[in-house]
Amino acid sequence: MTKDEWYKQLFEGLGNSKFRSGFHLKQKDIDYINEKGLDTIRRHAEDFIAKRIAPAKVLNDGKQTPMRGHPVFIAQHATATCCRECIRKWHKIRPGRELSKIQQEYLVDVIMVWIKREFDRYK
Ligand SMILES: [Zn+2]
Repeated sequence: MTKDEWYKQLFEGLGNSKFRSGFHLKQKDIDYINEKGLDTIRRHAEDFIAKRIAPAKVLNDGKQTPMRGHPVFIAQHATATCCRECIRKWHKIRPGRELSKIQQEYLVDVIMVWIKREFDRYK
């Protein structure tokens, strides 16, 4: 499967999930992105993934990503990059070992694709 095919399949699946597709950015999230810029938002996503998701052992996995407070948190729930169990199920990456830089970059990419789509809906 090519990268494009995988992303298409993934986002179709997320769109078909009642839970995942229920998450959307609100006006205040859009304002925040406008204020910070997408590059900064991406750095925040990199930071959250590195600190909360990437370690081999995550304390309270499944509860480390808040439901509000930052557009990236919303995007993580919408894209099933919120915890290692969701990442196992949706992104086929095994829990229990530290995420590689490439895996982290992939998850950040997925988050940013979702954020840009939401962002474009407000234009
Ligand atoms: Zn999760």
